[in-house]
Amino acid sequence: MHTLKKFIQYYAPYKPVFYFDLVCAAMISLVDLAFPQILRSLTKTLFAGEASQILSALLPITAALLLMYIIQALCKYYVSYQGHMMGARMERDMRKQLFDHYEKLSFSYYDQNNSGQMMSKLVSDLFDISEFAHHGPENLFISLIKIVGSFIFLFLINWLLALPLLALVVLMIFFSYHQNRRMRATFMDNRRKIGDINSRLQDTLSGIRVVQSFANEDIEREKFRESNENFLISKNANYRCMGSFMSGNLFFQGMMYLVTLVFGGWLIAHGKMEAADLAMYALYIGIFISPIQILVELTEMMQKGLSGFRRFLEVVETDPEIVNAPDAVELTNVKGDVEYQNVSFHYSDDDAPVLSNVSFKIPAGKSIALVGPSGSGKTTICSLLPRFYDVTGGTICIDGKDVRKLTLESLRNQIGIVQQDVYLFCGTIRENIAYGKPSATMEEIVEAAKKANIHDFIESLPDGYDSFVGERGTRLSGGQKQRISIARVFLKNPPVLILDEATSALDNESERWIQKSLEELAANRTTITIAHRLSTIRNSDEILVVANNQIAERGKHEELLALGGIYAHYYEMS
Ligand code: ADP
Ligand code: MG
Repeated sequence: MHTLKKFIQYYAPYKPVFYFDLVCAAMISLVDLAFPQILRSLTKTLFAGEASQILSALLPITAALLLMYIIQALCKYYVSYQGHMMGARMERDMRKQLFDHYEKLSFSYYDQNNSGQMMSKLVSDLFDISEFAHHGPENLFISLIKIVGSFIFLFLINWLLALPLLALVVLMIFFSYHQNRRMRATFMDNRRKIGDINSRLQDTLSGIRVVQSFANEDIEREKFRESNENFLISKNANYRCMGSFMSGNLFFQGMMYLVTLVFGGWLIAHGKMEAADLAMYALYIGIFISPIQILVELTEMMQKGLSGFRRFLEVVETDPEIVNAPDAVELTNVKGDVEYQNVSFHYSDDDAPVLSNVSFKIPAGKSIALVGPSGSGKTTICSLLPRFYDVTGGTICIDGKDVRKLTLESLRNQIGIVQQDVYLFCGTIRENIAYGKPSATMEEIVEAAKKANIHDFIESLPDGYDSFVGERGTRLSGGQKQRISIARVFLKNPPVLILDEATSALDNESERWIQKSLEELAANRTTITIAHRLSTIRNSDEILVVANNQIAERGKHEELLALGGIYAHYYEMS
């Protein structure tokens, strides 16, 4: 019920189309209902038998039928065209809402959900929605008019014969209701299985270079086969339900004809019904059976559509964890003082704390370096500043303002991040650099590329800045990609900078080049550097050693060496 109520809300913008669609649907069924009546009046005239009477009746009947069928055809055009478009628009609205919502969901959501399922929800789950959105109410309406209408005529023609038919219809409704509940679960399961297939496919394709380099195609094939087979198993349960539903309903229809013939014959034999009325009966049952068939198909369409809609709701009803506070203010005119006060953090409630009581201060324009074993929480410390996650204890301030009291957009606009993994979007080099500032002019882009030491390389390409980088930048080397990502940050020109092992994945030669660009980038910005090579951070204003969820040592390079602790030990080893 909850699902249906939510679903109905999506009709709101299309009310006029929706109601007019129903009016057209009603006209279509009224014309069908009228035909036997016209036939009846014609047969009456026929039985009356005078040729002149018959001929004079033909003209008005022709006119009436022609008018009726023209109206019916026009209505059908509206229903098939505008009705379908209404469904397609609703589907578009939902897809837009889902996409917008995906963009808002926090990192923690993406930690727990895989992108294959998410894609499946956006693409295939919403696919059946428009069909149901449009045909659902319309078919229901047409069918109800036809069923109720023909039943009224059946009762008028002979109420005795109508009674057992009514009993059969009631039985059929109970049967359908019961079957429907079973079908719903199987359709939902189908959706999940398709989502699994999407996930598998996406995982394999994203990692295809790893797959081929390990020659592990067999393993991937096996995993994919499993998802594919599971889908078949799920379909099997689904079609079994549908089979018994469809065949059950067909059997009920047969029983209606049987009852009509046998009981009708019995009534005629006992003089309780006229033979001509039995023929009328058969006509009206024809009108009455077809909407039942439509309702049966509608049930399938509804379960398909609604199961997709339910999966859609699962997402849009998940609130993003990190949102603007109601009284959030813009962060403007940033100096760049950063302060962590007693910051504690754990990723989820049942995980052990990753950070406890971490405190440090970076005056505007100064730099600190974080060092420590892998997994000690360095990246985590950095993720808290742009609020990819919120601290679970303590506060983080920029210019003395708690980051949770600032708007997310203005906060993130002030922070530039260069990471080990560079993500380049499918597109040209120019577009990828401009990602740092979409309004940038070509001069600004070139300027940024020069500062990142990548301009000469770009110029050497046949298409220059318009060269296509391929999906995820597959056509560039690691160092080139990294320099493009540095150009992006130059263009963004943020007062606060995070360099998270920006050179770790590079060879010595590229590293030296990039180190130069990074130093230039860091000049006059508040910078947090995580480096795997200690030589690159010697000049930091302060070095923090992260170990055991805490800052174990802090000071300048020489002070830490003199201390003879963890840092000194690292330094000796490197
Ligand atoms: P570092 O950057 O120092 O290598 P991280 O900050 O990446 O370390 O990780 C610190 C700890 O937090 C590790 O134990 C890691 O397993 C855990 N961790 C990191 N990211 C997540 C996440 N998204 N969800 C849950 N745990 C995480
Ligand atoms: Mg890290």
